[in-house]
Amino acid sequence: MDAARRLAEIPSIDRLLGTSWARALLARYAREFVTGALRRACEELRRDVRAGAFGGDVEPEIERRAGAAIARAERAAPAEVVNATGVVLHTNLGRALLPDEAVAAVARAAGRPVALELDLASGRRGDRDSIVEEDLVALTGAEAATVVNNNAAAVLLALNTLAEGREVVVSRGELVEIGGSFRIPEVMAKSGARLREVGTTNRTHAGDYAAAIGPETGALLKVHTSNYRVVGFTAEVPLAELVAIGRERGLPVIEDLGSGALVDLAAFGLPREPVVAERVAQGADVVTFSGDKLLGGPQAGILVGRRPAIARIKENPLRRALRPDKLTLAALAAVLSLYRRAPDLRQALPTLRWLTRPLAEMEAVGREAIERLASALGEAFRFELADSTAEIGSGALPTAALPSKVIAVGHRSLGADAVAARFRAARPPIIGRIHEGRFLLDLRGIFDSQALVPRE
Ligand SMILES: *Cc1c(COP(=O)(O)O)cnc(C)c1O
Repeated sequence: MDAARRLAEIPSIDRLLGTSWARALLARYAREFVTGALRRACEELRRDVRAGAFGGDVEPEIERRAGAAIARAERAAPAEVVNATGVVLHTNLGRALLPDEAVAAVARAAGRPVALELDLASGRRGDRDSIVEEDLVALTGAEAATVVNNNAAAVLLALNTLAEGREVVVSRGELVEIGGSFRIPEVMAKSGARLREVGTTNRTHAGDYAAAIGPETGALLKVHTSNYRVVGFTAEVPLAELVAIGRERGLPVIEDLGSGALVDLAAFGLPREPVVAERVAQGADVVTFSGDKLLGGPQAGILVGRRPAIARIKENPLRRALRPDKLTLAALAAVLSLYRRAPDLRQALPTLRWLTRPLAEMEAVGREAIERLASALGEAFRFELADSTAEIGSGALPTAALPSKVIAVGHRSLGADAVAARFRAARPPIIGRIHEGRFLLDLRGIFDSQALVPRE
């Protein structure tokens, strides 16, 4: 049978809708949804027939394809996955995991009315920042705080408020690009401020900033080089010195801190990241950071600093467009309350629990997982416990590798890509990483060995 005849056999959507299998679908799903699935299945089939890639009976094939598409749509989205990548704050996997208290707070706020913008004492309209502002101020030593959807929005809002139509002076060594296309020059352009680069890639001096300041200058910006380090013959101007220059010339100083730890991670044996309170103490007018990086909370952009600058930011109409919803604020409030009262943050916050996990614990889970994997997957696979390094992710502490334990998975005939695909096809999908031609399951985030055994 030739392609033309087979194409002619593809029934009309109306005819398909009359079949018993399509009527069964219509009993369970909205008509538009079933029609759409049938239409797409027919289009794909036409393409395959023309390409010579299909030569069977058309109607059962349409039933199969439409049914599979509907079944795919039925799965919960976004799909839950197992993070065996070794990247703790993995942007593509949703970054920080919320502690149980925050999950409960989100569920409560989602399903019930909450006093989001209501001052319960006076009965008047309130400000949604008040849900978290007191804690943010207490934890950072700032005079005031506000919250937006993410740190990119926080930087955009700070620049737009303090320097729209004017120049912002930035070191050439700090013109960062963060994954997901956050680039300082581009955010600057969208904010309506003009970038004034000073210094060189490796060295910028106080005199470079001072010389660039003129009547057009609106602000000085410092950016934490989250995801890279300039090493060797380098010089940067410390924040305190930049603040002194700003004060002298009457200019606000903004710092984009990126990750922004609320506590000193060195106390937990981790490499040091700048602590927000220290940057505030050095006098920055505005410090911006993410809620879902080292803080361990929901996606959010947090702006803290001196009252005059934050007050102007709160009045900017752009803030209305960038404001967070009740779910974010509920989660953030719950996480901040843990910072206020948790006896051990390493236990209270999943991000810190992952980052500070003892190697011996990972090893024990790894040994158990290997036994389970060997009996579940059979002879063709080989498993080996090995030392490796994990990373914090999201640009935090890029040069600091965390020692970790991995299971290296080999196969008699399949390559690393095929093994990775096999684990990704499991339910829930298990996401590892490929390193030097080997598929690795990193144990840093695996607390239950059962999680690494692929289920169909
Ligand atoms: C991560 C990061 C951002 C972007 O923050 P999001 O919360 O992802 O929007 C901006 N600046 C720096 C320095 C960062 O590290």
